[in-house]
Parts: sequence; C-alpha cells; structure tokens
Amino acid sequence: MRDRYDVIVVGIGGMGSAAVAELAARGVDVLGLERYDVPHDYGSAHGTSRIVRRPDATDRASATLLERGLERWRDLEADVDRQLLYRTGSIDVGPADGDALEDARRICEATGLEYDRLSSADLSERFPAFAVPETYAGIYQPEGGVLVPDVGIVAQVTQAHRAGATIRARERVVDWRSVSDGVRVETDHGAYESEALVVTAGPWIPQLVEPLEGVVVPERQLLGWFQPGNPDRFGPDRFPVWTLWTDEGRYFGTPVHDVPGCTVGRRRTREESVDPDAFEREPTQADERLLRSIVEEYVPTAAGPTMRLSTSLSATTADDRFVLDTLPDRPEVVVGTGCSDSAFAFAPAIGEVLADLALEGTTEYDVDPFSLDRF
Ligand SMILES: Cc1cc2nc3c(=O)[nH]c(=O)nc-3n(C[C@H](O)[C@H](O)[C@H](O)COP(=O)(O)OP(=O)(O)OC[C@H]3O[C@@H](n4cnc5c(N)ncnc54)[C@H](O)[C@@H]3O)c2cc1C
Repeated sequence: MRDRYDVIVVGIGGMGSAAVAELAARGVDVLGLERYDVPHDYGSAHGTSRIVRRPDATDRASATLLERGLERWRDLEADVDRQLLYRTGSIDVGPADGDALEDARRICEATGLEYDRLSSADLSERFPAFAVPETYAGIYQPEGGVLVPDVGIVAQVTQAHRAGATIRARERVVDWRSVSDGVRVETDHGAYESEALVVTAGPWIPQLVEPLEGVVVPERQLLGWFQPGNPDRFGPDRFPVWTLWTDEGRYFGTPVHDVPGCTVGRRRTREESVDPDAFEREPTQADERLLRSIVEEYVPTAAGPTMRLSTSLSATTADDRFVLDTLPDRPEVVVGTGCSDSAFAFAPAIGEVLADLALEGTTEYDVDPFSLDRF
C-alpha cells in the first residue's frame, strides 16, 4: 500500500468528491478517504434530490460560486453522460409582506435574475397544487431546479478515478498532525503522509479539526416523501421546487423523482445539534406528523400515504455560510465545511476553491465571506 501522496482529502461526500475530482484533474497525486461507502446515506449528501434555488446565493461571492458550480455540474453531465440537473423552476412562498419574499426579490434584482411575483390568486392559478392563505404571495424563478446528490457524487468520483485519483471507502481517519514536510494522517487501517490535507468531513468535522469545535454544528435533519394524488402533476417537468415560510418554520419540497412521492423537508434550528455518531437516526411518528401537517395544509393534493422518511445530518454555522479556509498557522491544512442545507449546488466550485487553497494557499474566488476568522 502506498503511503505518500501530494494531497489527502478526508470525507468523500458532496464537497470532498468535488475536491478530489478537481485535484486529480490538475494532475495532483491525490488520496481520498471515506469512513462509509461511496456514496452513503449517513451524512449530508443523501437521498434523491437537492434544490437549486438561485436566491440561496445571498451575496456576490456566493452567487459567483453558485453559477460556477452549476456550469461545472452541466459539464460533468456531458462528461459522464448522466442527467444530474433537472430544471423545474423554483418558487418561494410566504407572507406577502414578510422578509423572506423581499430578500428573494432583492437577490433576483441585484443579480439580474428573471422572476415573477405572484399573488396568492396568481399562485393558485399557475400552480394549483399549492393552497396558501390570501395573505401569502410567491416569487417564481424559472432557472431553479433539482440536482441528484448520490449520482452527482458518483459522477465526481468517476471523473477523479479517470484522472488517476485513489479513493478508499470504509477507511476512517482517526487522527492527523502536521509534520516537517506536510501532514501525517492516521486511519483505522494504516497511516499516510502528504504535502497538504483537505478536510471535508461534513457534520463530523469538529471531531477532526479542533478550531471548528463550536463553529460548525452538526444538526439532525428530516425528509419525508408523500404519494401525490396525481403523480403526473408532480413530475420535474410540471412541478417546481419550493420553499415555504410559515410561523412554524421554513419548509421545502421537490417534485417526484426516483421515490414514488414528493419530497418535503423542514429546515431545523441550531437548538437541535447532535452527536453525529449517536443521535436518533430512526424517524419517529412525531417527525412524520410534523411534515405531514405542512403538506396537508399547503400542498394538500400531495398528502397521500407516506412513501419514505429519513433523517440525516447537516453541518451549520451561526451565519449559515461556508467555511472555506486554511487553518491558522497551518497553511497546509484546508477546511471546506459549514455547507448547511443549500450547498450541494455549489459543490464543484467549492472543489475548485479547496484545490486552489491546497496547492497555492490562495484562490482567485472571493472567499473573504467564508473565512474562519469571522467567528
Ligand atoms: C436534509 C438536507 C437537505 C438538503 N437540501 C439541499 C438542497 O435542497 N440544495 C442544496 O444545494 N443542498 C442541500 N443540502 C446540503 C448539501 O446536501 C450539503 O451541503 C452537502 O452534501 C455537504 O457536503 P459535505 O461534503 O460538506 O458533507 P457530506 O456530504 O456529509 O460529506 C462528508 C463526508 O465525510 C465523511 N467523513 C466524516 N468523518 C470522516 C472520517 N473521520 N474519516 C473519513 N471520512 C469521514 C462522511 O462519511 C461523509 O461522507 C441538504 C442537506 C441536508 C442534510
């Protein structure tokens, strides 16, 4: 077994698979280490769909990364000959005078994105699946869509393999330390050394990178799939991805894809931080009721029998932004995390940033908003 590489990437989820693919494409001798399978359902990049919602890029730096990420996903589709991205349009629904819709509108205006503002009546006419109060309105953005996360990871790993990367699944990193000529990484199988280390361990990252303890918080997340009354009306060609703001919280959903039901999820709060190795992974009846009540109220024709429930983990920061940086006094160690619940669409661009930081210590992307020292 070889034990020396140029760069080691820890965690082959959404961000790590992007970093490994990008490093290998640049001719770097890279090793990727993943504690579970490639792909798997235990981390953040599980399931069948990830929303692409342009207003998720709340500033110019994020918007640049999102556009670049989407460009790279499209290139990857052609490269591996698999559809990864489905354009469905995205709709934000919430109180007509609330901050959420105003923010979505402002972001569309600022970045020159096409959008339609829909009153409650317009919304019912254009998307009859939604039943919203008269005091609600919507912002429809036609370029929103869905990415398929597990297929996306496989595509990035396929690309990495083609470019010569070594990726080892079921090998958990237990420790690492800086040494005179780089980094030494210990796993439950052996040890490796490299000039640089990229840690993309998602919700587990605080266990491996001490400066991220308390900065990145692992949270339990929940998704449900419910059978719609008329599945033909809920396919990616007919039904947009949606985000809904209510007094009880923020919810989101996607069309029917792979599972015979529409997805619905609830954005959770930081109060629900968990130990990623010991939390209530099995969904409960209370979880099911929580999601079902929202579908029954706001998308009633999609509230048929439950098809699937799953929990997963996200890694959030207090300001809901990424951390893309080198560690203080350790320029050979790069971290890519804090990807919360809307970062999958950015992944290939984040892979470029992480590769830049690992190889050059700097990047041409504006990563100031994602620096570690903001905390
Ligand atoms: C419920 C939910 C809904 C989401 N919805 C959207 C959405 O609609 N749109 C969107 O763009 N994004 C969405 N996201 C966010 C997106 O999925 C994540 O931002 C993205 O998957 C984060 O990738 P990551 O690489 O940081 O983490 P992960 O994908 O979790 O990858 C981390 C990897 O590191 C591995 N690892 C951890 N510790 C070790 C170790 N010691 N040794 C080796 N390997 C290790 C893990 O096993 C894992 O594979 C959602 C996330 C969740 C949880």
